[in-house]
Amino acid sequence: MNCIFCKILNKEIPNYTVYEDENVLAFLDIFPCAKGHTVVIPKKHFENLWNMSVEDFQAVSTGLRAAAGRVQARLKPDGMNIGINNGEVAGQAVPHVHWHIIPRYTGDGGGNMHSIIKNPGDQTPVALSELFK
Ligand code: 5GP
Ligand code: ZN
Repeated sequence: MNCIFCKILNKEIPNYTVYEDENVLAFLDIFPCAKGHTVVIPKKHFENLWNMSVEDFQAVSTGLRAAAGRVQARLKPDGMNIGINNGEVAGQAVPHVHWHIIPRYTGDGGGNMHSIIKNPGDQTPVALSELFK
């Protein structure tokens, strides 16, 4: 398969491993946006979140927590952003689902989840809540 993350899993491309277990590999992002920026990938190829079963997701969650704990222990950041760019429109460039661990340091100049997009649309949360009833 022509997937860069599968190639990393198959050791065709080297990586700087942060954490590994039977379900996930976590490695340093090659174009880091913060010191210790880490990518966590499932060892099975799934294009995005919706291709994963609940069990696969739970297994990755456990590995993600362990990987983030390792980053926290070694780099001692003041905080972290953890998330997925799920789908091309959300910024997903590599079509093998992955979680970003972005360590945050006091005064680093970064933003929060609200800085990803500022386009709330024309329906209020109250109007949208009808869809969830
Ligand atoms: P995306 O934009 O798809 O959510 O994130 C993909 C991430 O993978 C990017 O942050 C990018 O820098 C990283 N990346 C892409 N290719 C490689 C690679 O070959 N090695 C490593 N370590 N990271 C990569
Ligand atoms: Zn893959």
